[in-house]
Amino acid sequence: MSGLDISERPSPNHDSRDDVAESLGAGTPRIDMLVLHYTGMQSADAALDRLCDPTARVSAHYVIEEDGAIWRLVPEERRAWHAGVSSWLGETTLNTVSIGIEIVNPGHEWGYRPFPEVQMEVVEALCRDIMERRRIPAHRVVGHSDIAPTRKSDPGELFDWRRLARAGIGLWPEPSAELRERRGRGVGIVERAAALSDLARIGYQVEPSNLTPAVTAFQRRFRPERWDGRLDGETAGRLSEVRQAVEVVQATEEAARRDRFRGYHRRVN
Ligand SMILES: [Zn+2]
Repeated sequence: MSGLDISERPSPNHDSRDDVAESLGAGTPRIDMLVLHYTGMQSADAALDRLCDPTARVSAHYVIEEDGAIWRLVPEERRAWHAGVSSWLGETTLNTVSIGIEIVNPGHEWGYRPFPEVQMEVVEALCRDIMERRRIPAHRVVGHSDIAPTRKSDPGELFDWRRLARAGIGLWPEPSAELRERRGRGVGIVERAAALSDLARIGYQVEPSNLTPAVTAFQRRFRPERWDGRLDGETAGRLSEVRQAVEVVQATEEAARRDRFRGYHRRVN
C-alpha cells in the first residue's frame, strides 16, 4: 500500500462478501463503493472496542483517529458490517459491495467538532489508495447518511467533501453564484417533481410523502451551510447541479469501459 502506516486491530465482525460466488468459483466479488462514517462515540478507544466486540456485531474495514493513526479491523476482501439497512441507486446489500471507513469524531450526540487537518490528510490518502486499487468511481463514494437518511447523520455537515472531491474522491460540483439568491424561497410543483427525480437519480432513496430525510442528507453533503430538510429553491438548484455532475461522470466511465472492452476484443481476435 502506498506509504500508508496501518496498524492491525482485527475485529471478529465480518463474513464472506459473496457465499454464492465463492461456492460456484465465480471469481472475485464486486467491490465498487466507499462508505464514510464518523464513529459517534466519546473516544477512539470506545469506538475501537465496540467495533471489535463480537456481541455488538458492527465493524468497518478501517478506523482513522483524529491524529491520523489508521487501524485495519477487517481485510478488504471480507464483508464488514457498517452500512446496516441502507440503499443507494436502488441497491440494498451495500456491505457486500463496499469498503467502510470509520473516522473518529464524537458526532452529534457527544460533541460534534471539526475533523482535524492531519486526520483529513490521512482520510484523503487512504480513500485515494482504495479507489485506485479497486477502481471505485467518484460518484460511488458516499456518506452513511446518504445511504441511510432516516437513521444516520454521519459523517455530517462538518465533513469536508469539497476538499476530498478536489483530490478525485466523491463529487462536489462548485455551486453556481446565482443559487445563493434562491435560498429559503419556495418551489413550485414542477420544480418539486424535478427535485424528486434528481434525488433518485443521484442515488437517494426517496419517499415522496416524506422528503425531509433525503433532503437533509443531501444538504449535509452538498449544501452544508443549511441542512433544514426544506426543499427550497437553492436546494432544488443544487440537486440539478449534482445530478448533472453524476451523469457526466457516469458517461465518462461508460465510455472508458467500452474502450477497455474493445481493447480486449482486439487482443483476443
Ligand atoms: Zn455510520
